Formats: sequence, structure tokens, C-alpha cells
Amino acid sequence: MYKKIVTCSLVLTFFSGCFQADQVGKQTKRSYQLAQVAFDATTYPVVVLGGGIAGFTAANYLVQANVPTVVLEGPKPGGALAQSPSVRNWPGVLDAPGADIMKSLREQAVHYGATIFSESVTSVRLDVWPFELDVHDVVAGTTRVIKALSTIVATGAEPNYLGIPGEQEFWGKGVTNCAVCDGGLCKGKDVVVVGGGDSAVLEAAYLAGIARSVTLVVRKDYFRANDKKKRDQVLALPNVTVLYNTRVTQVHGDGKHMTHLSLENDTAKTKRAFDGLFLAIGARPNTALVANALELDAHGYIVLKSGQATSVAGVFAAGDVCDPVYKQAVTSAGGGCAAALQVQAFLDDLGFNAQMLTQPKAVPSVPVSAAPSAPRAVPVQAVDAGPAVALLNDNQAITQFIQQQSKPIIIDLSAEWCMPCKRLAPIFETLAGKYRDGISCAKVDINKVDVQALTDAVGGEVVDGVPTLLFIKDGKEVGRLVGLLPADELEKNFKILAGS
Ligand code: NDP
Repeated sequence: MYKKIVTCSLVLTFFSGCFQADQVGKQTKRSYQLAQVAFDATTYPVVVLGGGIAGFTAANYLVQANVPTVVLEGPKPGGALAQSPSVRNWPGVLDAPGADIMKSLREQAVHYGATIFSESVTSVRLDVWPFELDVHDVVAGTTRVIKALSTIVATGAEPNYLGIPGEQEFWGKGVTNCAVCDGGLCKGKDVVVVGGGDSAVLEAAYLAGIARSVTLVVRKDYFRANDKKKRDQVLALPNVTVLYNTRVTQVHGDGKHMTHLSLENDTAKTKRAFDGLFLAIGARPNTALVANALELDAHGYIVLKSGQATSVAGVFAAGDVCDPVYKQAVTSAGGGCAAALQVQAFLDDLGFNAQMLTQPKAVPSVPVSAAPSAPRAVPVQAVDAGPAVALLNDNQAITQFIQQQSKPIIIDLSAEWCMPCKRLAPIFETLAGKYRDGISCAKVDINKVDVQALTDAVGGEVVDGVPTLLFIKDGKEVGRLVGLLPADELEKNFKILAGS
């Protein structure tokens, strides 16, 4: 199928040699002239920004259609789904950790030929074409420019949190931000939804059909929700009540699950029994990179023009970065698929075919062979054998390790599917050896242990990304470093902990 399209494209290129950008999605009127593109080793037909469900679904469709595709995984590989301990609405899967779903999706993309770069994008120039992306290697401290004929922005969104005591402790134990994902556990129970926007109204509507009672807690004396009709329908439901001018100030529980919430308004403080707390207090889409280049809505989400097309021709978006409404893994995957098909149509109209990439591609800073399905650059066995880093595979071993050490401890939380973790591993191992007299180091695969139990045990907050280094002293977490950092910055922190 793709080959057939390619043949037509070649003919088109021959006669026209250029593509008017306004043919796709009626966005900017720009002329992209393929004939003028110098296909050097850093030019790619498509670069996907973001290694979550949308990004990897898009990559899968593209590579299977024979479109060479680069994925820049970003600082939180696996995206939001990888943080979910239990996913029960992924088609055909009864219940699986989000990290497992992401791992197989990533493996699939790599298997069919996707190239994964571990560098981070620091800036993009979408007003030139091919688009230019500055990518930074934090370990080497180098920055280079890669070019893309088209790009898919799939950088996700960060949900807002209340930041109150107990919120993180009982996250996943009654506290959540996804009614569709976790509402099923609230059958016949009493739950709270916090927020006064459209999401809160929708979450309450969904939960009202499952829970015994839904209490909407709104911090002002009105709802911000735009859909007034839906709001009124929900408020008229017999098991829905609203507390206006009210704030949730603490989550209480019995260690295993939340049991009560502290509520406050201008005149009273109360503590009431509830079984679930659903946050619907908005999210911050990760659009800082493209804020000056693409049209965004008032909340910072990328505005879609036609399907997954954005305001700039050749730039598409998928997943939570452009979806304030559904925010589901499945809808993100659907968006990624649609974006990939639109990229193919865009490249096809442009007259691109894969044979134009005659130059050998630049070798990624971390070879693709570091992907989970292939031999790893830093095998876990090497760490296991290294006396400076203990490999801990269950919570009991972690507890014992923490109790037995007289020195401060650094635990490297990583995952097999995480490319930045693989880059961090040798640096961590080297520093562990260098500072072994002052620090005890261990490595933990987050897919093999209960991370929440680990952080609870050391009094730390929820872990929301890997790699994460937990700094522990006297059995308590005293700090953490998240993401891939330059070696000298890591060493600075080792020194501080060793000397403390
Ligand atoms: P919004 O930003 O619209 O609303 C967030 C709500 O949470 C507000 O009521 C806000 O209160 C409240 N809030 C924020 N922080 C806190 C806090 N710390 N404590 C208590 N309350 C807090 O987010 P939504 O996700 O609801 O919507 C985002 C966008 O998506 C909107 O444009 C919305 O219209 C759209 N949307 C559309 C849907 C549709 O079906 N068409 C469905 C869902 C969303 P305050 O008002 O006081 O700031």
C-alpha cells in the first residue's frame, strides 16, 4: 500500500516539486519545497516528540508503513500510563501495570524499526522547514540540531495535585484523578470529586452511576464548567451534592486505604468518612516547547485544526497535550494512530519517499540496540556483579538493605524499558564505586517491587518517573534526583550525601 503511494508521489514531485502547506488542514500558507531539502544525516521524515502511548502508537504505525521514524522519549519515558499500577481499560487486557503496556508498545516500535534517541529537546523552530529541533545530551553536555519534514507533538500533560497531607500517601489507595479508570472500585461507596470545571462535572456524572453518593467539592461559590446543561443535569441527580466554598485539606486513612477527608470552609472544619477522592482540578499540558510556535487554547492545550493537524502544516499532535476532555490511554493511542496516518498523507503529498534518505543516518547518542528487546549497553548483570551496587528485587530485600546500612544510601529506581535509566546506570555505578566508603548504593527495578511501599517506608513522596535516585539517611528520604542529569551534578550530590 505504501509503495503504491510512493510511486504516485514520485510522479507528483517530478511535475510540481513543491507542496502548498494549506492543502493539509488549511493552516498556514507556506510552501514546502522538497526539491530544496538537502537530505543530510540529520534530516528525518518524521520526529515524534514524546515516548508515551500516543507517541509510540504513532511510531508503530509509521515504521510499519516504512516511514523512518525517530522518537525522542523525553524526561518521563513511558508517559503518564507508565505511572499507573493497574490499567483495566486497555482493550483486550484484563488488568496490567501501565509500565508493562508501555514496554510492549515500545518494543513493538523498536522491533519494526523505530529509532529512539535519549536526548531531550530543548527548543524547536517550526517557522523554518524542514523543522529544526535542538536536542541536548545531558550526560555528554552536548547539543545538536536534527531536522524533520514533519513532527508529531505527543508530550503529554501533568495533572494538578492538591498538595495536601495524605494525598500522595493514599494515591492509588482511594485518591486518584481518573474516574473512568478507578470508578469501578467505588460501587456502592461514598466519594468526593474536587473541582468546578467540565472535568469535575463529567467525573461526577460518571461516578454517580456507580457510587452510592458523590459529593462535589468546589472551592468557589460557582462552577467554572462551560457546559451548563450538563452541570445542571448532574446537580439534579439524587445522589449528587455540592459543597461550595469548600476545600479538602487532608486525606486520612488506615494505612491501606483512605477512610476520611478533612474539609474546610470559611466557618467550619469537619472530618468526614469517604471511600474515594477524585481530583478534577485541571492539568498542565506540556506545551512550553511549542508555546510560541503553535496555536494553543486558553488552558495551554494544542488546538487541533483537522484531525490531529495543528496550526502549522506538517506538525501534528496527539494524546493529552491536545486533549483536555477524554485523557484516556485508548484515546491517546487513537490520536497517535490518526496523527501517523496524517503524517503519511502529508509526506506523500510532499512527494517524499524513503529512497531519498540515501545518506546514512547519524548514530544516535545511545544506540538503538540499547532498547529493551536488544542486548543492553549496560547489562543488569554487570551491576549485580559490581560490589558497589546491590541489586534489590523485592521489598523485603530493600527493607533489609536499608536497615543494615550504617552509611547514607542512594537507591537508583529504574525500569527495563527506560532509555535514560540505561544511560544513567554506568555513571551511577562509577560514582557508587568512587564513594563506596561514604555511601551504600542499590538499584531497584520499579516493575519488580511495590514502589509506593518503598517510598512509604522511607517517608518519601510518590515516585512519578524514572530514573529517580532516592537519597536516604537514617532510614528516611532526605532528597531525590529525577531524570538524567549531568555526571558532575550527580557527583556533587554524592559528595554532599557522603559528607553529611
Ligand atoms: P479547569 O481548569 O477548567 O477547571 C479546574 C477546576 O478545578 C476549577 O473549578 C478550579 O477552581 C479547580 N481547582 C484548581 N485547582 C484547585 C485546587 N488546588 N483546589 C481546589 N480546586 C481547584 O479544568 P478541566 O479539566 O475541568 O477543563 C480543562 C479544559 O477542558 C476546559 O477548557 C474545559 O472546558 C475543557 N473540557 C471540556 C469538556 C467537554 O466535554 N467539552 C470536558 C472536560 C474538559 P477555580 O474555578 O476556582 O479556579
